Amino acid sequence: MSGRQGNGHGGGGGRGGGRGGGGRKPEPEPIRGVRDEARLSQELLKMDGASYGRYKSLKGDWDFGDFTLTVQRVQSDPFAPPSRVRIFRPDAGIPSDAYADPVRRRATADFLGRLAHRRLKGSLLRIDTGGQEVIARSSCQVGADGSLDLRIGLDLPGNGRRIDGRTAERELCRKVPELVDDLDWEEIDQGAARAFADSVADTVVLRASLAERGLVAFVADGAILPRHSGISDEPMRGEGVVPFASPDSLRVSVELPHRGTVTGLGVPEGITLIVGGGFHGKSTLLHALERGVYDHVPDDGRELVVTRDDAVKIRAEEGRGVERVDVSPFVRNLPTGADTRDFRTENASGSTSQAANICEAVEIGSRTLLVDEDSTATNLMIRDERMQALVHGDREPLVPFVDLVRPLRREHGVSTVLVMGGSGDYFDVADHVIMLDAYHPHDVTERAGELAGERADAEFALPRARVVDPGSVDDRTDRGRSKLKRRDMDVLVFGESDIDVRSVEQFVDAGQITGAGLALRALVAGGHLDGERTLAEALDSLEGGLADRGVTLLGEDFGGDYALPRRQEIAAVLNRLRTLRVTGQR
Ligand code: ADP
Ligand code: MG
Repeated sequence: MSGRQGNGHGGGGGRGGGRGGGGRKPEPEPIRGVRDEARLSQELLKMDGASYGRYKSLKGDWDFGDFTLTVQRVQSDPFAPPSRVRIFRPDAGIPSDAYADPVRRRATADFLGRLAHRRLKGSLLRIDTGGQEVIARSSCQVGADGSLDLRIGLDLPGNGRRIDGRTAERELCRKVPELVDDLDWEEIDQGAARAFADSVADTVVLRASLAERGLVAFVADGAILPRHSGISDEPMRGEGVVPFASPDSLRVSVELPHRGTVTGLGVPEGITLIVGGGFHGKSTLLHALERGVYDHVPDDGRELVVTRDDAVKIRAEEGRGVERVDVSPFVRNLPTGADTRDFRTENASGSTSQAANICEAVEIGSRTLLVDEDSTATNLMIRDERMQALVHGDREPLVPFVDLVRPLRREHGVSTVLVMGGSGDYFDVADHVIMLDAYHPHDVTERAGELAGERADAEFALPRARVVDPGSVDDRTDRGRSKLKRRDMDVLVFGESDIDVRSVEQFVDAGQITGAGLALRALVAGGHLDGERTLAEALDSLEGGLADRGVTLLGEDFGGDYALPRRQEIAAVLNRLRTLRVTGQR
């Protein structure tokens, strides 16, 4: 999947899990007595050459004066996933305006996390950091009280199965204090930190202003949309890059608190079609809109490209499971006679999977859909006259999206932005048509209107809301141990289930996938999914907790890195969990 961050280790092991099975030696007792910096240094040097298991005696807090280092988890051998240490500094000198509100707090934390990442290059300490998006993550947090909280991985060094105490001492007793000093507000580039937070704050204001302006998205003039390559999410650079320039008729101007006035394309609510020849930049624009639900780092090129935060990329996803979803607007009278208001399958087709994706998005409250012809099921998108003449309506269970997109808008306020280069059918229903010509957008609404024909709408009844059996969302393995692990950007292992998330395209960060798994766990453990609430209500309830307590609500004791997913991606993961059982619909 292009431009998604992440490789390497997945999230750590399970909840509260000593991984030691039967037959292992008992863990050494934690070191007692004075536990300060000098003592840690002494103990590490003393451990040099001892058997690797002795590292476990380091567990717990160490007092470094102005910060506390906590050894949270110790790997059992040099090849196991890294050990985990936490650094908590109550006062890192951060001025209150840099942490006063949640947005600046997230931005400041992200800035410091990236700085820490650079500083730790070449050491055995590792801090998780974001790609082009600025997303709340467990690895670096700034508290509402201005505290700094880092959660770091450390490959505890060994010579074979013996402790390399000297190297460990260097990492923990020298590198860590150096890092803490480097992150002190007095030491950092304060101007850059402010500019970073200002940019994120502007993005948030811009996104929040979309609704009152009747827009679903905004693309600033001068924005750089194309990416460096299919595997790099960095901006494309060089002479061939065409900066975005809005067409006059759709240009809007917005006043931002830090940057002042910006102009750009305002994508209006309703149905917007993006057309144009192949390779003219249609998918690149849509992709930027998909990512516009997130804030970007200042030099990304898309920091002033924003989309309503409920926007969901819709695609076909052959083979996915569907659990009792009301897909009746799209699918009627199946040859099997199954009730499509209560549709279940282990193996959806291209069209039914796409229908389920739309209905699930609308079910949890999303009112902005993003669709690219490149990844849709044609038979769910259109049916032309000749096909209708050959295959009669009563033999065709599918109602194409083109007949539903208007009622979705009219009855339920759902806007759609659709890339379509291959068929003019959507001219009939589009409110606006934007043509990309060599990456330049033009407003061709009028011309497309002249080519449009009549089209009778079908009916779109809101999909029924589902109530989930919390018992069916279980992260324990057959042996009763909790298991949550990510495999690249492809799979979330949740208990005995492998959840395929390759088609969940708005996961932009590996940590979000782990975060979504933790969110499933929290939905159940926190009583949000209680067998009574609908899925949408359970997500509301979880989000309330996240707003109050921040991302670590998802896993205070989790031994790995994670980042905050949106409710749309949490639901997407739940909907792809093959053990999911729905007990009722409302
Ligand atoms: P389409 O969906 O219309 O077929 P794409 O969006 O896939 O086209 O873009 C085709 C190619 O053009 C991609 O390699 C993309 O990186 C590049 N591209 C897109 N927008 C721009 C731009 N504004 N400037 C330069 N190259 C661009
Ligand atoms: Mg394309």
